[in-house]
Amino acid sequence: MHKRIRNIWKRICCWTGLCLLLASPLTAKDFTVVLDAGHGGHDAGAVGRISKEKNINLKVALAVGRLLEQNCRDVEVVYTRKTDKFIPLHGRADIANRAQADLFVSIHTNSLPKGKIARGTETYTLGLHRTKENLAVAQKENSVILIESDYKQRYAGFNPNSAESYIMFEFIQDKNMKQSVRLAQSIQRQFRTTARRNDRGVRQAGFLVLHATSMPSVLVELGYISTPDEERYLNSAQGVSDLSRSIYNAILDYKRRQPGTSGVGEPADLPAEDSNNLPTEDVSEESESRAEPEKTPEPTAPVPSQSQTTADAPVFKIQILTSSTRLKTNDRRLKGLAPVEYYVEGGLYKYTYGASTDYNEVYRTRKQILAKFKDAFIIAFRGNEKMNVQQAIKEFKQNKHK
Ligand SMILES: [Zn+2]
Repeated sequence: MHKRIRNIWKRICCWTGLCLLLASPLTAKDFTVVLDAGHGGHDAGAVGRISKEKNINLKVALAVGRLLEQNCRDVEVVYTRKTDKFIPLHGRADIANRAQADLFVSIHTNSLPKGKIARGTETYTLGLHRTKENLAVAQKENSVILIESDYKQRYAGFNPNSAESYIMFEFIQDKNMKQSVRLAQSIQRQFRTTARRNDRGVRQAGFLVLHATSMPSVLVELGYISTPDEERYLNSAQGVSDLSRSIYNAILDYKRRQPGTSGVGEPADLPAEDSNNLPTEDVSEESESRAEPEKTPEPTAPVPSQSQTTADAPVFKIQILTSSTRLKTNDRRLKGLAPVEYYVEGGLYKYTYGASTDYNEVYRTRKQILAKFKDAFIIAFRGNEKMNVQQAIKEFKQNKHK
């Protein structure tokens, strides 16, 4: 008899366990955050007197992740790295795109050349820099691609050190932009109030890692490793705790404002203080490192165009793959994408998707197909001739202002 009861009891337990297992999708994580600790392995990032950027970034990223994992059961945390290893920039974006993440937060630490002092945090969204200082930050962070062997091919001729290359970031206006700025503002607000850091503002610049992700994305600069007292703070338990709590709070705040998430309805408009969010500045700073408030970038002053007419305007397309043979329209490698076109270059068939004289439109389309074609990049043609894409963007800009 006893044995029978025990058997029944066992069965009940088994069924309950199975039911819970089957029911688990109901409580599945509905929000994925990718935490990207910048640099790693043989790429140390900026180097201070007592520490390296890669280690600060990792400590803070892991601490943010821990807070999310411990306190938010509906948030899935994906790390681009959890240890001291090198990951190329495109690899970081791939991880986020594959995970179909809702947010991408890249964590970095700033530095200035010898003799220059600055203190405080900055959060960047993708866009065209307004100041040389912001361009310098993007150039420094992008220059890590130079240690990737195939960077010329992979980043379509992008030269991180040439200011010319950054023109491609001028027209970025997609739906992610607004959300990215919202998260960036929230992070800066938290740095100011929770961590009591000097707020150097929300800024825009052309970061390749943000360009390659297909979801709202920001890049955080936690502080200046080149400023001795700030470096000590960045390496202290207090510093790591304050900064990680700030980012954690901001992610939660962002998530709460998303439509369809639990507890709160439609995203509320940002409080007035944000729209005039003038960063406070260190009075001791040199003028070079002064912060400038930035919002959604607007096109710069029109450049008078010469004989260009829209009839021979460059056409932008997205190159998705290269093959040594011609592909059938139902080839698996095309992943169902249609219609596609190809052109032949260097004996190879190069397949493209989409075509428009509107760079913005092609830019948005590229974002949509990144999950399928992680290396998709924009190229340009005039007539049937392939042309330099930077030149094409320049002309697009000129035509726009006619
Ligand atoms: Zn960095």
